[in-house]
Amino acid sequence: GCDATGLAAALRAAATVVAGHRAELIELDRAIGDADHGENLNRGFEAIVAALDAGVPETPAAVAKLAATTLISKVGGAAGPLYGTAFLRASAKLGASDEVDVPVLVEALKAALEGVQARGKAVVGDATMVDALAPAAEAASTAGGDLAAVLTAAADAADRGAESTVDLVPRKGRASYLGERAVGHMDPGARSTALLLRAFAEAAR
Ligand code: ADP
Ligand code: MG
Ligand code: MG
Repeated sequence: GCDATGLAAALRAAATVVAGHRAELIELDRAIGDADHGENLNRGFEAIVAALDAGVPETPAAVAKLAATTLISKVGGAAGPLYGTAFLRASAKLGASDEVDVPVLVEALKAALEGVQARGKAVVGDATMVDALAPAAEAASTAGGDLAAVLTAAADAADRGAESTVDLVPRKGRASYLGERAVGHMDPGARSTALLLRAFAEAAR
């Protein structure tokens, strides 16, 4: 299982990964958007680290909720509210327990996906973060094994999902304004979703 301290450590690890991929995410967004995705996400995860430095909440649910409210308040654009909603819905599935186990993780990933889709109305194939998160949630539900194994399966599926956006015509968000001209480029939000899941998988090892 993963307790509040473990989830806080995973979020810190994710912040490090986001900082390391800030430039890459900016370049992906420059090609088909407004070149701010890496900056937006990095600002959000720096703020999460600052909030955790000020004190780690008692339960995993409270840690996830802190991440959610921080992302919603600090990150503008499309991705901030969408990631914020993902963490908020995940938090609601974590309950009051001290540890996240595999069944709860699977439910949290499904809830995160449902939250993103409720808010952004994107479906698989629209070339958004949903193309990474949906296969990740599906892979997690069938993977089996411990938290690290389930998260690794989710991250592997998210990588393939992000890769799939290269060939798609975007139908949601800024990239959709480009239509066919966006084909050939990976969606930045799908890429960042895959990076975050990989960071969580590595942190769970
Ligand atoms: P903005 O487009 O407002 O500048 P970001 O650059 O931070 O915001 O985030 C862009 C990412 O947000 C896209 O790459 C895509 O993955 C995601 N996104 C945008 N709109 C939607 C939507 N309606 N549903 C799901 N994801 C979306
Ligand atoms: Mg952008
Ligand atoms: Mg923007």
